[in-house]
Amino acid sequence: MASTTTRAVILARQTQVSGPVLEDFAVADIAVPALEVGQLLVRNAYMSVDPSMRGRLEPTEKHYTTNFIVGQPLDGAAIGEVIVSNDERFPVGTHVRHRLGWRELAVVDAASATAVDASVAPLNTWLGILGQTGFTAWAGLLRTGEFRVGETVFVSAAGGAVGSAVGQFARLLGASRVVGSAGGAAKSAMLVDELGFDASFDYRTESGADGLARCAPEGIDVYFDNVGGEQLVAALYALRQNGRVALCGMISNFAADAPKTDTAEAVEDKVAPKQDIGHLIQIVLKRITMRGFIVRDHEDMRPEFERQVSGWLRNGQLVSKDTIVDGLANAPEALLGVMAGRNTGKMLVNVG
Ligand code: NAP
Repeated sequence: MASTTTRAVILARQTQVSGPVLEDFAVADIAVPALEVGQLLVRNAYMSVDPSMRGRLEPTEKHYTTNFIVGQPLDGAAIGEVIVSNDERFPVGTHVRHRLGWRELAVVDAASATAVDASVAPLNTWLGILGQTGFTAWAGLLRTGEFRVGETVFVSAAGGAVGSAVGQFARLLGASRVVGSAGGAAKSAMLVDELGFDASFDYRTESGADGLARCAPEGIDVYFDNVGGEQLVAALYALRQNGRVALCGMISNFAADAPKTDTAEAVEDKVAPKQDIGHLIQIVLKRITMRGFIVRDHEDMRPEFERQVSGWLRNGQLVSKDTIVDGLANAPEALLGVMAGRNTGKMLVNVG
């Protein structure tokens, strides 16, 4: 092997509760271990930048994943080309999706790699609407949200990666009305103008209650929740009888002024905000089902998801939106950007 080190983004110091800043990260050379039997050396092409990384930067365990360690490289979904192979199932030149992003070269266990076919869709799409992002939208909408033809769907963070997929899938699967919220007038307008939503609102200038009253005056059947907070409360009031809430994420909890509900102190002292609990009576009155989900629990749905979504892409029925940042050194900026809404669709880094 020509190279024994590779550039990687490491966590340089523990992030503060107020949130990560660029100084928390550094680009450093790390060792590339010798390849063992069953391993692949992969040159990363694209890597995914996800809001869930924000939780992994905090010292508190988030139950379904591991936290980043100071001095160690970050990790996350990536796609690249096999340049040395010690597993005959993945010959040199194969494109693989794996979990060791945030570095240029990765030694990947073949057992944890998935081959992707770049003739079906470009590599970046395999990390976006045809990858875990789109699959999150699919599983959350269909299984957790129990979406049915003819229903009205509302999705928050609808200009982002998961949200832009949810809205488009709902439309293609026969929703009678699709409503989205996003930050800023341009992103909100894009939902209707480019992605085929029926109506949208800018949550920064219009409350969830007002936005839903205007965009879905007859009420909603499914709320796909990416943000929590005020929009979740508004959705509980807008939901019809037997409505469903698919709880995907609560990115508004990371806002500087948000009450902390997932810190060790909050869990131990039970200091989670009490003012919102009263709204849950809506669930009783309207027989609403509200359920959280983690995408990895729904792998059985992936073949049907890939078949359907690759077909829609081939027929030009789906818009695959990406924001691609160039260069590994700019990856921390991309992470701060996704938290601040500087992405449209999937936030990716072009590692090459
Ligand atoms: P994304 O939507 O592409 O990016 C996050 C977006 O959140 C930003 O672009 C921003 O858009 C919005 N945002 C930031 N702060 C906000 C606030 N205070 N209130 C409302 N919106 C805010 O990210 P993604 O990868 O698609 O993830 C979306 C959600 O799904 C996240 O909560 C993530 O944690 C969750 N997720 C869950 C699973 C699972 O298995 N459960 C899997 C993947 C993702 P604006 O410009 O609109 O503000």
